[in-house]
Amino acid sequence: MTAEKETNNDGEACPLRFDIGGMHCAACSSRIERVVGRMDGVDKISVNLPTATAKIWVKPGEEEAVRKAVMERVAALGFSATPAADVDAATQYETARAKALEDRRQRLGRLWPMIGFSVPLLVVSMGHMMGLSLPSWLEPHSAPRIFMLLQLLLTLPVVWLGRHFYLEGAAALLHKSPTMDSLVAVGTGAAFLYSLGNTVLGVLGFDPVMRAMNLYYESCAVLLTMIELGQFLEATAKRKAGDAMGALMSLAPETALRLDREDEAAPPEEVPVAALRAGDRLLIRPGSRVPVDGVVLTGKSAVDLSLLTGESIPVPVGPEDKLVAGSVNGEGSLTMRAEAVGRDTRLARIIRLVREAQGSKAPIARLADRVSFYFVPAVMLFALLAALAWLVFSAEPISTPLSVFVAVLVMACPCAMGLATPMSIMVGTGRGAQLGVLIKNGAALEQAGRLTTLAVDKTGTLTTGKPVLTGISVLDAEGSATDRTVDGLDETALLTLAAALEARSEHPLALALINAGRERNCPSCPVEDVEVSPGLGIAGTVLLNNQNYVVAVGNRAFMRERGLEASGAVDAQLAALAEAGQTPLLLSVGAAGAARLAGILALADALRPESPAVVARLHAMGVRVVMLTGDNERTARAVARQAGVDEVAAGLLPAEKADYVRRLQGEGQVVGMVGDGINDAPALALADVGMAVGTGVDVSAEAGDIVLMRGGMEAVLTALALSRATMRNIRENLGWAFGYNILGLPVAAGLLHVFGGPMLSPMLAGTAMALSSVSVVTNALRLRFFKITS
Ligand code: ADP
Ligand code: MG
Repeated sequence: MTAEKETNNDGEACPLRFDIGGMHCAACSSRIERVVGRMDGVDKISVNLPTATAKIWVKPGEEEAVRKAVMERVAALGFSATPAADVDAATQYETARAKALEDRRQRLGRLWPMIGFSVPLLVVSMGHMMGLSLPSWLEPHSAPRIFMLLQLLLTLPVVWLGRHFYLEGAAALLHKSPTMDSLVAVGTGAAFLYSLGNTVLGVLGFDPVMRAMNLYYESCAVLLTMIELGQFLEATAKRKAGDAMGALMSLAPETALRLDREDEAAPPEEVPVAALRAGDRLLIRPGSRVPVDGVVLTGKSAVDLSLLTGESIPVPVGPEDKLVAGSVNGEGSLTMRAEAVGRDTRLARIIRLVREAQGSKAPIARLADRVSFYFVPAVMLFALLAALAWLVFSAEPISTPLSVFVAVLVMACPCAMGLATPMSIMVGTGRGAQLGVLIKNGAALEQAGRLTTLAVDKTGTLTTGKPVLTGISVLDAEGSATDRTVDGLDETALLTLAAALEARSEHPLALALINAGRERNCPSCPVEDVEVSPGLGIAGTVLLNNQNYVVAVGNRAFMRERGLEASGAVDAQLAALAEAGQTPLLLSVGAAGAARLAGILALADALRPESPAVVARLHAMGVRVVMLTGDNERTARAVARQAGVDEVAAGLLPAEKADYVRRLQGEGQVVGMVGDGINDAPALALADVGMAVGTGVDVSAEAGDIVLMRGGMEAVLTALALSRATMRNIRENLGWAFGYNILGLPVAAGLLHVFGGPMLSPMLAGTAMALSSVSVVTNALRLRFFKITS
């Protein structure tokens, strides 16, 4: 897909990153985005509210100047920007976690006393409404002064504990960028000052009883307490949203057992994983975690990759098999050689990817950002106008306009709006990582949720991708199959030549030939001048029995390129194999001009057992499934029939797969493409959502918008269903947040009261507002339990 590609996995075209302090709601983040986005030298900016970070894309060469300018500019807005330390994802996560814990401790330290003072205040001021009667020494009619002073005394500590609302809110207001804190500060400040004024006058003897009845201390205190509580709950819930990340982090052990490079007998030494280097020999005890990527040297065991791929069946491993960091060793003891360490392990790449994704924005968030930018100032104006209207046009006491003013201000904070999208994306992408589906960013997620057509590569996706060799036929000069040795080449010799070449390829068919060669004890031969033609085959020179053979292995089109046409008996044999769903490969021997078809290698790639059911599910979701393959038409149709796929395009070269995707897009479809990152790269890049299968060890994190960490259609279904669920979750959240504001504002402005209904007390408004954020976050957290239900 074209939108918002970020080539920042390993530092190329990497944007500037900042930690932003002091943001509370979408009004804050969109304010920063707007102001900084318009600065010279800044290409693009993306501010993330939940992670409190910003990424800024800068014109090359201006990084230093822009970095300084941005910090000053953001500070002038009343926030802080500090360049994000260039540390690895794990350290960053740990720092963020420590900060969150400290923040939580501080909040709790404030929250309890705030509640402790607010509750008695509420009883004193509102008790009579609930039928509680105050003792006469405190009763407002008999002892108005004590009544007023006690309330003031109970309120002051709460205001002091909540002073950060006033400090930050006033600062933001002074910078002409009012935030949620400003709303709270103005709202509660008005209630407090009004009550304080009444108290002073009352104590001085001006109408004490009437003044005692006109106090709003409890509005102020309870509001501050509720908002503090809401922010505390929100912070707690947000921390949970990062769980998936924590789980990934904890996969990498802290220490490893290193064996001496030379001395076989030396006991293993326990060293921190950070100290490991490529080439180190390590001991992996049964039940322990693999610390880095590498290969098995000795031993046999099974490793559990479930936390990395979502696949729960342990994979058997033995010498020469690859191991990835984070997998759990089974019963056997292994020694391994470290190959990729630190930032280079697959796990580290995955963690970086998930972190990027969790902090990325979906286009759908723009609406909320734009709205909340104008929202706060608009609401302040609205609150003022509504209060004035009540003051001028009604005979109500002064308390009504005041309470309208406070309620509207408090009701209107767009904090739920700002959280709606990023929270869902954070939880959704985190859940994806647990299920073996790495969604790279919010834009990809949004597109995947809207997908109408899915193009799938046959090999490895619909089929197991582990084809096996089912037969070899030696062809004589006439092209007939024969059991003789032709030109000194028998079945084994043909396989030897093919396997030698394919050792240079990573194609699934190549693996099949290599494995078959190994099984039949074919000797390994030196090869030269190897040329791989994606979607066609492979050619080169093989030295066998002191003789050089120019060999090509591939499909019909590949042979046609070298002037060899499969006709007659060869043609018939190819057709029969294809009809049976097998993939025949042709092998030619001889230099250009003198080449001849020497054999047919038949390979069969079994359908994955779950493919038909998943295709049916996709159809039920309204997704059209198209199979794109470079394989021949007959084989393709046979496989498509078995899988239940209704549309097939066969014999496609990688570039033609991309053309096909373009054509589908031309029909107005939102197209997803599933393929292996290597030879399907063009189609993956072009598709609205490219899903790269990164099975086994090499997660080709560069290709595709979504990386599937296990092959097969189930992962595809998971990706689509999760994306849809996340988008639904976002819409619910936005609906909730907008609906709350749209319904709440008129009520807070006293609309119901105009028709004789109740007023919305500022306390209730504050509670509702706090709950709206909490409910949005809680709703997003539901995605943690997302599962494909069958
Ligand atoms: P698919 O869409 O089925 O994954 P590819 O585009 O990967 O197909 O390959 C298409 C065809 O090209 C294969 O069916 C095979 O005939 C031929 N081919 C590609 N790579 C190789 C190779 N390394 N060795 C032999 N044949 C190959
Ligand atoms: Mg392929």
